[in-house]
Amino acid sequence: MSDKVTQEYGTLVFNDAVMQERLPRPTYKELSRVIKEGGTLHLDIANEVAHAMKEWALEQGATHYAHWFQPLTGITSEKHDSFLTPKSDGTAMMTFSGKELVQGEPDASSFPNGGLRATFEARGYTAWDPTSPAFIKDEVLCIPTAFVSYTGEALDKKTPFLRSTVALDREAKRVLALFGKNPKKVECTVGPEQEYFLIREKDFAKRPDLIMCGRTLFGCEPVKGQELEEHYFGAIRPTVNEFMKELDDELWKRGIPATTKHNEVAPCQHELAPVFETASRAIDHNLLTMEEMKIIASRHGLTCLQHEKPFDYVNGSGKHDNWSISADGKNLLDPSDTPEENLQFLVFLASVIAAVDEHQDLLRASVASAGNDHRLGANEAPPAIISIFLGDDLNAVVRALIDGSDFQSHGRETMDVGVPQLADILRDNTDRNRTSPFAFTGNKFEFRMCGSQQNLSDPNMVLNTAVAEQLEDFADKLGAVDDEDFAAEALAWVKRTLSDHERIIFNGNGYSDEWPLEAEKRGLLNLKTTADTLATLRDPENIAFFGHFGVLDPAEVSARYVAKAEQYGKLINIEARTMVYMARHWYLPVLFDYTNDLATSIATKQSVGVVAKSEKDLLQRLVDGTDAISEGADKVEALNAEAQSLEDPEEQDLFYAHTVLPEMEALRKAVDSLEQVVGHDYWPVPSYNRMLFYV
Ligand code: ADP
Ligand code: MG
Repeated sequence: MSDKVTQEYGTLVFNDAVMQERLPRPTYKELSRVIKEGGTLHLDIANEVAHAMKEWALEQGATHYAHWFQPLTGITSEKHDSFLTPKSDGTAMMTFSGKELVQGEPDASSFPNGGLRATFEARGYTAWDPTSPAFIKDEVLCIPTAFVSYTGEALDKKTPFLRSTVALDREAKRVLALFGKNPKKVECTVGPEQEYFLIREKDFAKRPDLIMCGRTLFGCEPVKGQELEEHYFGAIRPTVNEFMKELDDELWKRGIPATTKHNEVAPCQHELAPVFETASRAIDHNLLTMEEMKIIASRHGLTCLQHEKPFDYVNGSGKHDNWSISADGKNLLDPSDTPEENLQFLVFLASVIAAVDEHQDLLRASVASAGNDHRLGANEAPPAIISIFLGDDLNAVVRALIDGSDFQSHGRETMDVGVPQLADILRDNTDRNRTSPFAFTGNKFEFRMCGSQQNLSDPNMVLNTAVAEQLEDFADKLGAVDDEDFAAEALAWVKRTLSDHERIIFNGNGYSDEWPLEAEKRGLLNLKTTADTLATLRDPENIAFFGHFGVLDPAEVSARYVAKAEQYGKLINIEARTMVYMARHWYLPVLFDYTNDLATSIATKQSVGVVAKSEKDLLQRLVDGTDAISEGADKVEALNAEAQSLEDPEEQDLFYAHTVLPEMEALRKAVDSLEQVVGHDYWPVPSYNRMLFYV
């Protein structure tokens, strides 16, 4: 007898249990080997797997299959093909071959490719990623795939991410070998905490800005914000609770280990966190979760907003990337009691610290987007400056290592800085610093700059590669050291690495006014907008770095640069156009009506000798404000046209970031200031008060 949840868990996934049950033993063994160790599947084996997969999928009611992939922009893509094969006698059968399983050829010429396919080869194909299991979604068998060009260039986000896991696995194994360990597989683990908003679908449908851009481009401050702190962890309202229950059920059926759900700081904001998994699965699962959230919300009369900044005046949404490295299931960032393992822990810890310092620019670029620009540095999310928080205790250990001094903490015994006993110290590491972009949280790091609607492949690709680089350095330098000197030399490497990269460690308040100044003194980067981060993807050192680890070749880096630059310009263009459209077609007509009504009312009163002072004052304010809106819309339109005429994408983006956006902000202010004085019944779109509180 088992409960409903465990009975249903994973029933829509072609998981290991299903494979064991349905595949002939040798086929299962060969497939498991490829899943664990990598390599390619022989076509005979692929045919057997495809057959079993199809039979299973048909039993679950599937009629189609799709290669499911992660394009350079947007979330996921899929093209559905049916299993149907008509026969000459007028009947039909359902077929699915190994070739169809391992390789697909989407007519994908319209996917953003950053110029790659124009330069190389017109077509792209999708290739099965057997490390992430196939699943059923809405009567479609979805096969997670990588998307590459015929010459092998990655056209997606998954391929380079998978390559980064290969680099991490290789270099970590070299390091672990020096510690006398030979794990089968080293991989990164990820647990993404996903924030989102839920508002009423009826309100959403009345806001062109939310529909077109996913965020409000106008809206005056609500009378109440998040200051009472009543929403965070507060009771979940019934509609949302129903949504969350259904979401859990659907995710569990798909083998997604959703576990925590709660309200977030802002009104209407919520969070979902799963139990962490191998990163490639965790990322696929996060993308699927985002998709399910949207679908299920609409069944409850709700709309799920995943934009980083749907509303001004209250917090935006992020996605915390909890990340660690695991060797055959053992967490390498978990401090332990034995001196050798502590030394090993310190090597990995120092590698992460050095990696983040060395590649601040790429990490920052990996989370840069038009949406996330509204959060980072806005005193609600981490600042745009990357730094690492270690907590007081670990920081004291690191300090002692750098200074060569004795370590003392919270009345614990002094330890000589050979290798400190870390487990005790870190197990009760309950430090919580919410302002840090990159925090050590006891046995993992938490990268908090990621945007709520982003694909976590990019930041994890950078992180894995950057850590692989440090591990490579350790393995290169320590490889030839005699056994008896190893511990001392390894510790010396740790100390050197920590002191070289000490500047990235910051345990203070990231929102303080002093921090940017201090960070500048330390030589840390402060790249404020997406446009400012683009140059990092043209930097020859960065191109060489990705190339060295086989993660991205120069053409692939360039493609990502182009795709990112174009995407940013396109998004702001749409926002600018939506603003002009709303100003002219929604707000101005209403303001004309309202001023007209007001003027008539004043005239009527004056005709009987009444002085309508407050109405007159208001009328003047409205007339002036209306002109400001009209002029503001003209200005945004003209500047947007100027931006569009710039051919170089980076130049265009910088113009958008530093010239067009401030003007858009001014137009917003002009409209918002009138929203505060116009009669409630006149205003053409739901207000913040309504959207965030009348739920
Ligand atoms: P928070 O205090 O930020 O809410 P939690 O302890 O609730 O942090 O964990 C947040 C996420 O971190 C969860 O998804 C959890 O599964 C994940 N996590 C825990 N351990 C690891 C690990 N070793 N690697 C990656 N993610 C992890
Ligand atoms: Mg967190």
